[in-house]
Amino acid sequence: MISPISSLTASLSSFFFPPLCVSCRSLLNDKSRFMLCERCLEELALFNEEDSLMTLPSGVLAASSGPYITIMTRLIRALKFSQNMAAARALAAIIMETNCPRYLLTGADIVLPVPISHRRRFMRGFNQCELILAEAAKMRPIAVNYRAVARRHRRAQSRLSREERLKNAQGAFMLLTPEVLRGRVVTIFDDVMTTMATAEAMVAAILTAEPKEVRVVTAARTL
Ligand SMILES: [Zn+2]
Repeated sequence: MISPISSLTASLSSFFFPPLCVSCRSLLNDKSRFMLCERCLEELALFNEEDSLMTLPSGVLAASSGPYITIMTRLIRALKFSQNMAAARALAAIIMETNCPRYLLTGADIVLPVPISHRRRFMRGFNQCELILAEAAKMRPIAVNYRAVARRHRRAQSRLSREERLKNAQGAFMLLTPEVLRGRVVTIFDDVMTTMATAEAMVAAILTAEPKEVRVVTAARTL
């Protein structure tokens, strides 16, 4: 139950800080969802179930909520470059409302956010995949494990060609506690999948721990 004081605090705070659209900063109303105004909501493109799923070259099943265009791109950039937590909540809500990503996250024994290297964490201060999963775990039970895998520092994938990305990602992941993955259904979570190089490198590392099954979920995927 909401106490009278906390509901008063909530209405006062929404009076002084009315909720704004994460994408365009316009005022939200009753028809808003995912912290997006009606106009941005119309622009938000999400996959249907069939388009959401794909099989990686390794044979692993992957599910994404939407294409990496327009609003999805804005939400991911707002989180990654400005640590906008409203964007993290919006992305978590989108993922939990799209069927295939939700099934693969809630049905897994262990969910692993794609880790960032110590150096990158020191520079950026946070891992956006962890922030999205932490918000998603408030909506549905998800068995997130933040410590099973570590990442060696490499050049940023975003500036490399496809060939360079594949090479750069190979061997980047180290299993810290392989025993917790053995015989389990493991879902890897990343914010965006572009060349699949990062996802495939992490899949390869996890397969060495002999899990029952590995899957990949991403918020967005390039078409
Ligand atoms: Zn908007």
